[in-house]
Amino acid sequence: MKEIQEHYSHSIYIDKDLCNGCVVCTLACPVNAIRVIDGKAEVIKDKLCIDCGECLRVCPVQAVKSMTSKSQDLTGYRVLAAVPSPVLFAQFGSHYTPNDILLALQKIGFDYIYDVGLSCEMVLMAIDEYLRRNQEIRPMISNFCPAVTRMIFKSYPDLIEHIIPIEIPREIGALQIRKKIVEEKEVNPEEVGVFHITPCAAKMISITNPVGVERSNLDGAIGIRDLYGPLVSALKEVDDDWIIQKSSGVGMSWAIGKASLRGLTKWSTLSVTGVKDVIDILDTVEKGKLKNVDYLECSICPGGCVGGPLVVQNKHLAASRIENLVEQYGVKSRVDSRKVLRNYESLYLLKEIRANAPSPDPLDPDLKRALEMMNRIEEIRELLPGKQCGACGAPTCQSLAEDIVKGEASLTDCVFIRIKELTNAVKRTGAKAESGNNQ
Ligand code: SF4
Ligand code: SF4
Repeated sequence: MKEIQEHYSHSIYIDKDLCNGCVVCTLACPVNAIRVIDGKAEVIKDKLCIDCGECLRVCPVQAVKSMTSKSQDLTGYRVLAAVPSPVLFAQFGSHYTPNDILLALQKIGFDYIYDVGLSCEMVLMAIDEYLRRNQEIRPMISNFCPAVTRMIFKSYPDLIEHIIPIEIPREIGALQIRKKIVEEKEVNPEEVGVFHITPCAAKMISITNPVGVERSNLDGAIGIRDLYGPLVSALKEVDDDWIIQKSSGVGMSWAIGKASLRGLTKWSTLSVTGVKDVIDILDTVEKGKLKNVDYLECSICPGGCVGGPLVVQNKHLAASRIENLVEQYGVKSRVDSRKVLRNYESLYLLKEIRANAPSPDPLDPDLKRALEMMNRIEEIRELLPGKQCGACGAPTCQSLAEDIVKGEASLTDCVFIRIKELTNAVKRTGAKAESGNNQ
């Protein structure tokens, strides 16, 4: 494997023209990466950001934008393929079948479609095999949510060896569809554009700057909500009875946070969704307090991928639709397990999970100075009111104290300290004026 590039960028950006400095994103960011400076939000702690999309989800004026692929990114390829997340099946109510939705993707311009539900089923078999062959480390933690993987690399380095080294479904799908197109169309691999249709922006960064693996097999990711309008129109015209949807309910269940539906019946599994609960469970695993769980599935979005910020449908309605589909399409996998086991080593097992995500900058490379700075942070934090209001532009009083010690903010950024100083100044001026009058 070659070294992963140093460059590290993110899946979101903030449109400063739209931002009104309300600090909602600052308070929501789980890693305190955002500050509001001069009335505008900015991801200033670039190396802390895990691309969880919370800021995108909470911004009341849609000033936080995703860095997903746009229509111009699709030009220049001779053949286009879509690898849609099963979450797409839950966006259009119960009128349309998963097959209708895949056919609609063809109508809007994708030459080939890969039903990711199928690769979800293959990957689940590979996970089952990995758990059987490797029983020393428990729990093994899922790797399909890029924000969780980033969080583990940055904040829980001791848990990196718990990340299951099995390729993720969208990557398997991309690899297989590109191979098929190259063979059928006799084109070069780079003439094929393979795009994931995604519920979350973090998938894009897992393609452009993957953490833990060398490279992605995908060329980009398009947000579900960006394709929703064209798909609604195309669905009205779908009348073919050509079947391209192949997976059972097992593959579709990947869209929701319910590991119990995945057919890993020999193992004790647990699903945890939503950023706060994921942090909580990772803390528990780190302390060695999560017992008797073989496979822990974590997704940063509430409810699983159906709760991604780039979807259209309400996450509860979407989850209910997926559960209905699981019932309808059955929980018996449609994949040939012998084929998966034959290709286990070559296709599914990742050679290495690499600890190469950028780590946050230390306070100071010199230990003595770093300790002095920590003491100073503590002193300043005690001066601050502890109201955690965010009015200074930092998410907590602790964050402001750190910013002050690093020279990135000043004590008077705290409105309460400013008010106190102004009140004292007014009192002093008043006292002076009074003593002048008395003379
Ligand atoms: S949530 Fe953040 S990006 Fe959105 S308007 Fe408020 S401060 Fe600006
Ligand atoms: S994507 Fe997540 S970690 Fe990054 S700035 Fe937004 S809320 Fe913070």
